[in-house]
Amino acid sequence: METKRLDESSIQSAVEIIKADGLVAFPTETVYGLGANALSETAVKRVFEVKGRPSDNPLIVHVADFEEVKKYVDEFHPLTEKLVATYWPGPLTLIFKTRPNALPTVVSAGLSTVSFRMPKKKETLTLLRAAKLPLVGPSANTSGKPSPTTADHVFHDLQGKIEGILEGGAATIGVESTVLDISDPTKPPMILRPGAITKEQLEADLGIEVLIDQYLTKESDVPRSPGMKYKHYSPNTKVLMVHEADWSQAVSTLTARGLKLGVMAGPAIMEEVRMDVAATFPFQNDSVEAATKGLFAGLRSLDESLLQLDVILVPTFPEEKLGVAYMNRLKKAAGQQYFGEN
Ligand code: AMP
Ligand code: MG
Repeated sequence: METKRLDESSIQSAVEIIKADGLVAFPTETVYGLGANALSETAVKRVFEVKGRPSDNPLIVHVADFEEVKKYVDEFHPLTEKLVATYWPGPLTLIFKTRPNALPTVVSAGLSTVSFRMPKKKETLTLLRAAKLPLVGPSANTSGKPSPTTADHVFHDLQGKIEGILEGGAATIGVESTVLDISDPTKPPMILRPGAITKEQLEADLGIEVLIDQYLTKESDVPRSPGMKYKHYSPNTKVLMVHEADWSQAVSTLTARGLKLGVMAGPAIMEEVRMDVAATFPFQNDSVEAATKGLFAGLRSLDESLLQLDVILVPTFPEEKLGVAYMNRLKKAAGQQYFGEN
């Protein structure tokens, strides 16, 4: 099958593909999603097949407005209105208890809850409105690989396997949405997956305590979000995390072992090590925002380097605010390994 590259002027083609149970990847502010009609079991099953996604990992349903959610959910958490008014459209996924059989069971992987999000890219909002359908939208990558933050990443993974890619430039955030469980109206909201909407921000805006899945602080626990248990974001090349104070030593020690190094980092670190490594992927600046935006793109770029690197070195950030989401993805990519700890 030919994978068509579409833009906003060809939304109608994208709508036709979706209505015929086809798959169209779409841009969002977090990462690119793999879109399919959430009301069609056939279409949703294809999403799992194409990605190689385990069938026990539920999908997020993307909507053009909150009204769409009301079609599937009867009972809402008292904070729902405030959360939606404050963060939609945006990188916050909300989990609701759905009416039985409101959506095909493949969407929720058999759970009694379904997660919804209203994304912020205008191309995708145009598609959702034109199709007048809710769309599932897991990251548009092969399961286990770094999530795609550009249309080219999607093309690389899924070319020939999906009908179309709606182009919308590079994702501005770079990691997937925050997943917030508000399915039990009697309990405080709980973060199941960290993202750009942080615990600190939610607590400040809502004026209440927000829980965080134990699994995120104690890796030993079973995650409440099924997808979090899978090894994610892994390039083929070994990835090592490097603490701020360890860069010179990391580069000299590993180079002395005869290893070919790739480094992704902001200007401060890059200045220090650039001359001594084989390949680099620069972050735009030294902030955690820039690192988060470049994380998956950098992992992909260095992993595919023709230089055949032995190790990719990536900076750590403090685990607060956006640093929680960044470190959550990086630790998985690095298989928890830091330079200096082995
Ligand atoms: P992805 O679509 O690849 O960004 O992954 C979606 C994430 O949300 C996965 O970690 C899922 O397990 C999680 N998720 C989706 N729906 C639910 C749900 N109803 N309950 C708990 N976690 C969910
Ligand atoms: Mg994913």
